[in-house]
Amino acid sequence: MPNDAGALALSRSLGFCGGSLDRAAAFRGDVHWVATRRADPEARLIRLNGDKVRILDGRIHCEQPGEDDIIFLGLDDHGHAIFAGEETAPLPDARDLRSLAIEGQLPARDLAMLAQARSLLHWHQRHRFCANCGHQTEMRDGGYRRHCAHCTADHFPRTDPVVIIVVRNANSFLLGRQASWAKGRYSALAGFMEPGETIEEAARREVLEEAGIRVGAITYVASQPWPFPASLMLGLIGQALNRDIVIDKTELEDARWFSRAEIRLMFEERHPDGLGVPPPMAIAHKILETAIT
Ligand SMILES: [Zn+2]
Repeated sequence: MPNDAGALALSRSLGFCGGSLDRAAAFRGDVHWVATRRADPEARLIRLNGDKVRILDGRIHCEQPGEDDIIFLGLDDHGHAIFAGEETAPLPDARDLRSLAIEGQLPARDLAMLAQARSLLHWHQRHRFCANCGHQTEMRDGGYRRHCAHCTADHFPRTDPVVIIVVRNANSFLLGRQASWAKGRYSALAGFMEPGETIEEAARREVLEEAGIRVGAITYVASQPWPFPASLMLGLIGQALNRDIVIDKTELEDARWFSRAEIRLMFEERHPDGLGVPPPMAIAHKILETAIT
């Protein structure tokens, strides 16, 4: 496991990590406080259309916030508020969040802010009605709660944890690929956690289901928000207890052991069969890098 400094350096280079806004959780439930922040001439609003945002001159395009249903993201270093709102019409000069993260042109904290905005806006779009009684709900706490006036239920934004694991057997490493991925792309095995599981149990279940490999000791490496729409990737390295792979073809097109040398060639995009790994902004890249080092 990396030491604290190592873990910090690691998370800084991952896409959507490194947010720096003060989320002001103690104040955002006060509608007057939020209204005052919104009226500040220096307050800014970021509009997203799905996972797209307008980029002008290499920066996120911001507007003055209005009165409509907008979400409070937090206060910047100067104490000015930043809000987010959904735009239903396509935005001019729009870029999608994945491409922005891969290119790495925006500051890490801006990408983290966009991830926060994207996940929250998506949640509001899909949770306008109470899951308990079916009546319409209202936004509260600057967007961190929806309240049902009919049955008094409160609903909170969700985050969906996903385990992602590189499994190691001596000097070889288990990677798989799904049929829908780019040609030649291999990555760490991953899956959503289920209720009642620990992180380790979820990772062991996923690897056994998808590749027939039993996993022993597991080490946590790092986590990464993944706003498509609201995942939290939990990056792990595990020790294999057997070597014979049995692929679940409904999940994976292929899974195999790779040598350290082969993975280095994949990092350098020099693999003789044209095989590759996810880009550096993705946690799969980071845990694989950690596993082979
Ligand atoms: Zn209700």
